[in-house]
Amino acid sequence: MKLNSYILPNDTKDNMRNKLSETRLDQREDKPELGFTLCANSANVIRSRGNPSGESDKIYIDPNACTGDEKFLGGYHTHPKIDSDASANDLVHCGRSKLACIGGELDNKIKCYIWKDMQLSSEDMGKLADGYISGHRDPKYKKNFDCIDDFEPLYYEEEDLKDLNRGLKKLESDLHDLERDNIMISPIARIQLSMVRTIRDRRVGTLTASIKDKSKKYYNEVEIK
Ligand SMILES: [Zn+2]
Repeated sequence: MKLNSYILPNDTKDNMRNKLSETRLDQREDKPELGFTLCANSANVIRSRGNPSGESDKIYIDPNACTGDEKFLGGYHTHPKIDSDASANDLVHCGRSKLACIGGELDNKIKCYIWKDMQLSSEDMGKLADGYISGHRDPKYKKNFDCIDDFEPLYYEEEDLKDLNRGLKKLESDLHDLERDNIMISPIARIQLSMVRTIRDRRVGTLTASIKDKSKKYYNEVEIK
């Protein structure tokens, strides 16, 4: 199978599938994302490198995991309990990597998001960072800047929602404890909780739609079978 000019061989594909199986078999409540770095060798064949384990909603992919003669392409990671759609965090890299591949536990699918434009070299990334800070944006990196401008607010909204979710989880478990101890819970508390859930779901819906919409502008989405 080919991803742009790169070849995705069966063994790398199997490694993706195996990590997804590992995530699916993990019974823990807060199981971590699993993954690895994706590198291209001199024949443009995609290799998997490293074996990081993250948290329930994040993972660090190390660009230095590629060997000396390999090129860093991006990473693969699993999404525990959710599907294989990319998050804002997965797509905010905007050319700093070529590939973001994701295995979703819920839909049991593997998808790769391929950056449509040129992948930035480390020299380019330095210039991009300088331009970002100084405001003097080189038109050469217009696509990258546009992409960052599009995804950055979505990334912050996503982080905000993660906080809200943590708060909700805590509230739900507190209420559960009170119930278990036969302590009366005010109906108001229940109504408030359900209101916050409704607001959360609405914000998740809006965010998901925006990510899907922006994603098409900058990335080709390919399902790995
Ligand atoms: Zn992700």
